[in-house]
Amino acid sequence: MCGIVGYVGHDNARDIIIDGLKKLEYRGYDSAGIALQNKGQIIVRKRQGKIANLEEAIAGEDLYGNTGIGHTRWATHGAPSDSNAHPHINGDGSIAVVHNGIVENYVELKEWLSEEYGVVFRTETDTEVIAHLIGVLKKTTLEDAVYEAVKMMRGAYAIVVLAKDEPGKIVAYRKDAPLIAGLGKGGNFVASDIPALLKYLNKIYLVENNEMLICTPEQIQILDQDRKQVKR
Ligand code: GLU
Repeated sequence: MCGIVGYVGHDNARDIIIDGLKKLEYRGYDSAGIALQNKGQIIVRKRQGKIANLEEAIAGEDLYGNTGIGHTRWATHGAPSDSNAHPHINGDGSIAVVHNGIVENYVELKEWLSEEYGVVFRTETDTEVIAHLIGVLKKTTLEDAVYEAVKMMRGAYAIVVLAKDEPGKIVAYRKDAPLIAGLGKGGNFVASDIPALLKYLNKIYLVENNEMLICTPEQIQILDQDRKQVKR
């Protein structure tokens, strides 16, 4: 289980996320990646090895997005490699996911997705299943789809998700894996651990098990598993 950082706000998510991931390097990891939402697109870049490899890979690119998610991976399913690194996307690239933990029933979910929807998998990870699952379940909002997806997922996980057609929003869900949220200057944050965000935040929320976060630049909503608003 390794590092997650998500940002939604008014600044460039790219630099904030890379900086936050570096603060989590002490946990150890085998690869790193980032997804940025910009002009109706989700752009994903990922590299095996150090965060420095990812930085080098994107150094010449003018990557920008006010919303983004990033991850340092500690492989449990599939070798450490560029393609198995997170974020993972669904078939048409409309959903991007980072994930800490394990989806225990990923084999069943994989079979169901390929039989029912003809989904083709491109990586060896359990995490890719989550991106496709949310993609096929998304009929309305991203939060609706994430709620439906987590009902089908067994295991321990913290996930953070972006949808191409919902700019300026990140949705996160925690089940038996650490997750925090924070209100900051110029934007709001989610992360797997506090050090990632300390320098940016005015206020930190500790997210509890089976809670969802809906983060926009203006606010963070916390919902319990019955979708009731939680005051914290
Ligand atoms: N199970 C996922 C994978 O192997 C997530 C690993 C992690 O928590 O970093 O890709």
